Amino acid sequence: MAVEAGTKRGGQPLLSGIRGVLFDFDGPVCRLFPNESSRPVADELRDMLVREGVKQLLTASEEQNKDPHVVLQAVHRGRPKRDQLVRAMEELVSRREVAATQKALPTPGAVELIHRLWKNGLRLAVVTNNSPSAADRYLRDWGVRDQFGAIHGRSSDPDLMKPHPHVVLCALRSLGLGPTEAVMIGDTPTDLEAARHAGVRFIGYGRNELKQQRLRDAGAEDVLGAYAPLLDEMGEKGAAAHEPGARSLGEPAACL
Ligand SMILES: [Mg+2]
Repeated sequence: MAVEAGTKRGGQPLLSGIRGVLFDFDGPVCRLFPNESSRPVADELRDMLVREGVKQLLTASEEQNKDPHVVLQAVHRGRPKRDQLVRAMEELVSRREVAATQKALPTPGAVELIHRLWKNGLRLAVVTNNSPSAADRYLRDWGVRDQFGAIHGRSSDPDLMKPHPHVVLCALRSLGLGPTEAVMIGDTPTDLEAARHAGVRFIGYGRNELKQQRLRDAGAEDVLGAYAPLLDEMGEKGAAAHEPGARSLGEPAACL
């Protein structure tokens, strides 16, 4: 069911019994490439394919897609694993994502939510298909990096991007939590699928009705259009419901 801002599903707190929250980065924390600004990056990748003489690796729709990840995964699909071209493309996307953090639009309420979750003793992690360096940079710029015990993002192997549960499983391990002790906040059906594969409950966040509907259509039970319900839960009243947990402030643990 859809959960409107300020309400809670069936009267039950969404974070009841939860000890950790796993955030997808682009969407739930910020808009990394607002206003189609990812398209020039996708075009750069397509230019690389033209130079290499392998533009035929893309389908017609992939030739038009604004998402660099779609292009990256398409090329990976058609080339040997950990191919040098795929690696070079992934490194380019990572550099552009780190640069994009300087113009990213903060998701309303996200930084406040991070503060409140942390004050309530919940363990936090990022689970993203973006470069972990981009998430690290953004969270540092906004003064909330230390609230996160782990950041798990795209590696050199595109096969491990969500909907593969790899980053979710890595985050659980880094935070020392079981699947039922955590909830994941994501904004795409791909996030939902990754959470399901990992056995983690999912809260959808959609900044507009279209994105919310996509999540509902994919089967998400809890879909928010704003963080008000979670902020309310983590306010003065919600604080008593959560025992302060051990906080994991160090660098992320390796996850191989
Ligand atoms: Mg996202």
